[in-house]
Amino acid sequence: MTADLPDHFAAGQVVSVLTTQPLDRPLDYLAPDGGCHMGAFVQVPLGPRQVSGVVWGPGAGDFPREKLRAVARVLDVAPMREEMREFLIRAGAYTLTPLPAMLRLATRAPGLGAPPSMQKVYALGHREPDRMTPARQKVLAVLEEFDGAVFAQTELAEAAGVSTSVIKGLVAQGAVEERAAPRDLPYPHLDPARRGKPLTDSQRAAADHLRAGIAARQYGTTLLRGVTGSGKTEVYLESVAACLSQGRQALVLLPEIALSAEFLKRVEARFGAKPAEWHSGVTQTERRRAWKMVGQGEAQLVVGARSALFLPYRDLGLIVVDEEHDTSYKQEDGVLYNARDMAVLRASLTQGRVVLASATPSLESWVNAKAGKYDRIDLTDRFGAAVLPRMAAIDMRREALERARWISPTLKGAIRDRLEKGEQSLLFLNRRGFAPVTICRACGEQIGCDHCDARMVEHRFLKRLVCHQCGESKPVPEACPSCEVEGKLAPVGPGVERLTEEAETLFPEARIATLSSDLFSSARALKAGVEAIAQGGADIIVGTQLVAKGHNFPLLTLVGVIDADLGLQGSDLRAAERTFQLMRQVAGRAGRQDRPGEALLQTFQPEHPVIRAILFGDETEFWDAEAAARQAAGVPPFGRMAGIILSAGREEDAFAAAQTLVRNDGALRRAGAQVLGPAAAPIARIRGRHRVRLLVRAPKGAPLQQAVADWIAPMRLPRDTRLSVDIDPQSFL
Ligand code: ADP
Ligand code: ZN
Repeated sequence: MTADLPDHFAAGQVVSVLTTQPLDRPLDYLAPDGGCHMGAFVQVPLGPRQVSGVVWGPGAGDFPREKLRAVARVLDVAPMREEMREFLIRAGAYTLTPLPAMLRLATRAPGLGAPPSMQKVYALGHREPDRMTPARQKVLAVLEEFDGAVFAQTELAEAAGVSTSVIKGLVAQGAVEERAAPRDLPYPHLDPARRGKPLTDSQRAAADHLRAGIAARQYGTTLLRGVTGSGKTEVYLESVAACLSQGRQALVLLPEIALSAEFLKRVEARFGAKPAEWHSGVTQTERRRAWKMVGQGEAQLVVGARSALFLPYRDLGLIVVDEEHDTSYKQEDGVLYNARDMAVLRASLTQGRVVLASATPSLESWVNAKAGKYDRIDLTDRFGAAVLPRMAAIDMRREALERARWISPTLKGAIRDRLEKGEQSLLFLNRRGFAPVTICRACGEQIGCDHCDARMVEHRFLKRLVCHQCGESKPVPEACPSCEVEGKLAPVGPGVERLTEEAETLFPEARIATLSSDLFSSARALKAGVEAIAQGGADIIVGTQLVAKGHNFPLLTLVGVIDADLGLQGSDLRAAERTFQLMRQVAGRAGRQDRPGEALLQTFQPEHPVIRAILFGDETEFWDAEAAARQAAGVPPFGRMAGIILSAGREEDAFAAAQTLVRNDGALRRAGAQVLGPAAAPIARIRGRHRVRLLVRAPKGAPLQQAVADWIAPMRLPRDTRLSVDIDPQSFL
């Protein structure tokens, strides 16, 4: 559509530059000496500042030429490709996100403009410092934790929270090594011709199918559905190999970076070298390297989190979305996008393939496969001797439990049995912290957050009460803040920390590990923790949903779900789907090698249809029933939705703005859409801001984004009121 844009602008020609600043349009500048390419990454003056941007096209020419300023500098990185521009435009249009915000997603690497010279980097040295100080200790701890990684000086100082003089001191002592390294080394070559594991017949058929897709060099999406442990990873690595053999780049998205350690090892075993990594646990120096090398085509494979979709690939032939149903693919703040959907969009623009892998696909993907939009491959058996876990309910109405205890006698017996056999057990509870509620036994007051409409959660490990909405924390008070009686505050209900305490009392001889995202100081530490457990470093694992995501714990044979009913409360339209997926995934952690596994679900409602489907369900039957129910209700994926949140310091301001929108809903009605609300959002106050929610519903084919854009465009919001639009909302908080 923009194929006739010029490639190069001569010095002095007027160009338009899209910046990352929140302006409503690109600005005109003069091309610098030597000219600039279309798509060039540049720095331009804006008022007194220099800001970064991209040459977006010929100038609009509506500003007097003599007043125009020149592009200050062209960065030494590959210009943005036409396809990437198109991706940002379309993704922005889909999520109703202004282009500058999209460009920020695409330039999330530090120092892109820095010259391609040598730089000083720092790594762990070989000598002990003569004197250990807390500051020195912090530096060494960071270097040990990022084991083998190198840092720029300021980056290391920042990560350790010390001044650069501490690093200089350590260098002088030989405890930290300083060396010069070229910035941005290319990645080692991955060899797709190396042999993979010999595949089973069904794996081979699946791999052949995926390879044929790659060979076609055309867009297409395959849903690779296979029970946990069926070898989906082995299969999709074959499509990665096929893609690399063509000389094209591949991207594997993982929902959880703690998963990446095991995966990177598998990649290394398969292709002989490690790929590029892109996620929050990667140092800034590495990020920059990845960004640049991806753009130069010198990173063949990227393994990353959802934001890796916005890297400047030169020729992207394949995107694998592993655990495609995972809710963490939806970004819930800033730009609200779903990486699974954006992967499909991106691949459609690069003539690439998408593989969506899951044991429990999202209903969206399931329905797309049924409709023939995606093709589908099923792997129905676990690899080798591994069999699917036996699943059973523990009827909690019949179990004798003491007060403030959550592990039933039946489950306790099963754990004891595993301990005797030297096997691992997992206790699953999707709740961080010690106790979800702290109540005063004198007056009944529940301690809430001062800024949010949420209860504070006790984290005994931190010795604090924490708000899971805004992160605010405070010490557990001695006296009730309401009635001032001392010594009467008591925890109510279990979180993983409390469950760990119970397990410690029940099994004092066992080694117990708690896996919860907040208990690790960093992504690296979490990765190390997961690995230690996989090696047999614990007998009992107590974990949140973090453990449900594809980890491979070979010794694990028992999964005990503490509260299978937890996700079924509440009115989220995806409650059944989510519970089904989570329970199936968690259960799938058991018995992944030769020892058979068992999953026991503690429930007060063993007859609930979702619980029955989890236990005995023919999965196909469950998805079909769930699809039929959603179709009847006209909700996603059979109808479309957009969530609108209006927030303001005063509740009445947020409501007033919402009411104005509701009164002026002509643009929606013309598109066949309807607006529901306003209502106070389920979490009615976050960080002191009151939140009011509107929900827009539209039939499946309706031009939802356009209608919403037209609807909100004329709206003039008072200064303190903010509006955010969430297309295809996943969470209704
Ligand atoms: P999934 O991704 O479906 O959960 P994986 O690919 O992780 O399954 O496979 C489960 C386990 O079985 C892994 O340890 C994997 O190495 C092993 N495995 C799968 N297929 C093969 C094969 N063809 N040859 C050898 N090992 C295999
Ligand atoms: Zn709060």
